[in-house]
Amino acid sequence: MTDLSDLSAYTNNPVPLPITGGCACGALRYSIDAQPLIALQCHCVYCQKISGTGHGCFVVTPGEAATTTGEAREFTYVADSGGTSFRYFCPQCSAMVFAKLSRHPETFVVAAASLDDRENYRPSVTVFAKEATSWDPPAPGLTLFTEGLG
Ligand SMILES: [Zn+2]
Ligand SMILES: [Zn+2]
Repeated sequence: MTDLSDLSAYTNNPVPLPITGGCACGALRYSIDAQPLIALQCHCVYCQKISGTGHGCFVVTPGEAATTTGEAREFTYVADSGGTSFRYFCPQCSAMVFAKLSRHPETFVVAAASLDDRENYRPSVTVFAKEATSWDPPAPGLTLFTEGLG
């Protein structure tokens, strides 16, 4: 991934560590012992279909610092970028908890609402703005990317 530190709301405003979170029922959990790289809103069609809403909200973290507990069910698809996306759901409550990207294997991407402290979601970027619907346009004040971060 390109250097995102200039775009990240965490660079000068770190969160307490470790970052913890999980699904709705508590069976699938994670812990991350490093600062997030960036938080974003994604308007791609897959985020819309998976969430049932207009966009997905994610925190991108360093994968080497992440550990998970509990079983996860995987859904895999080839994204518009040509890379493969892996989404991980709790088999019990079906919440989507985290994701991985073949193009960015160094990252561990968590769903914003899965955070135990949901105020630690500090989005600064919108991706796949081209796929946003008229009823859920990109939030004002965020840096817009037409496609993914590449
Ligand atoms: Zn669950
Ligand atoms: Zn998306």
